[in-house]
Amino acid sequence: MTETIPHDLIIIGGGPGGYTAGIYAQRAALKTVLIEKGIPGGQLNNTDEVENWPGTEKISGSELAMKFSQHAAAYGLEVMNREVVGVEPGLGHHTVTLDNGETLATHAVILATGGSPKKLGIPGEDQYYGRGVSYCAVCDGFFFRDKTVVVVGGGDSALEESLYLAKLARRVYVAHRRDAFRAGMILQKRVLHEKRITVLWNTVLAEIQADAQGVNGVITRNTQDGATSTLATDGVFVFIGFEPNNSLVPAGTRMNANGYVIADDKCETNTPGIFAIGDLKEKYAKQIVTAAADGCTAALAAAHYVESKKAGS
Ligand code: NAP
Repeated sequence: MTETIPHDLIIIGGGPGGYTAGIYAQRAALKTVLIEKGIPGGQLNNTDEVENWPGTEKISGSELAMKFSQHAAAYGLEVMNREVVGVEPGLGHHTVTLDNGETLATHAVILATGGSPKKLGIPGEDQYYGRGVSYCAVCDGFFFRDKTVVVVGGGDSALEESLYLAKLARRVYVAHRRDAFRAGMILQKRVLHEKRITVLWNTVLAEIQADAQGVNGVITRNTQDGATSTLATDGVFVFIGFEPNNSLVPAGTRMNANGYVIADDKCETNTPGIFAIGDLKEKYAKQIVTAAADGCTAALAAAHYVESKKAGS
């Protein structure tokens, strides 16, 4: 007897990639469920303004996230607000286990779990998290109105968030470990022209210090001569990149040395029917538009995969 598999496709993660996959899967008439443990949009909700989503010159991250989920809802995408705790590949079907112990059988899985902010790993960072140490300017910037903050990093995130914080804080120091930013030119120019921002080149943080009220200073170290000094600050915002959320990636799936999943041009991993997209996948540009493109590719490839499975080939 042929086994009946309740789901054609399970998408894990509700960021731009996951929702795009959901929209394409619905249009391809796949029996799909998207499972998301938080709010729709993922990291997008931590982004102040998005200026590179084609067709929209400027939109807030949270508004774009809302639009993605509304668009998917208009196509009838089922969204489950739960945490996935396991993905078990199988020959007949794959199994997705939820935090309540429920298991779901599916032909295909799209892993769209994104990434999480990297930490500095210095004294005070964990201890004062939420008391002056933050990884999200949009979430916590308000608490630093007319105060001084230190932003760590030299990539797009660090510079974008510095500009956001400069609208609120009295002084923003950007501490970067080299003498040149990694971020795109437009952001670099804006940061260098912003009067409230001071760039500390060749500088890393050695320690974050606090009193009973929260963070009150950092010890900086010059990467050229090793000299240390103390800088008074009310907050520290860390934007030094992301780590892939790869805990659900099944054993045996190919990943690179940094933990990003290696997938082919269809976004399929080395396990047939298991796809990886967005910031979880090894690729050159990690952008909203490339996550969305991955979502499209994976959903179309999953549709083809499911069709072949049902046809028994
Ligand atoms: P990123 O591009 O990896 O940049 C991380 C920055 O942190 C780099 O400047 C790096 O220094 C620095 N860094 C890393 N580890 C450090 C440490 N332990 N101590 C001090 N500094 C450290 O990360 P991101 O800015 O989060 O961006 C991630 C991806 O998202 C990128 O592909 C980016 O283009 C994309 N993104 C795009 C936009 C946009 O287009 N508007 C916005 C946000 C993010 P080095 O330069 O010396 O390596």
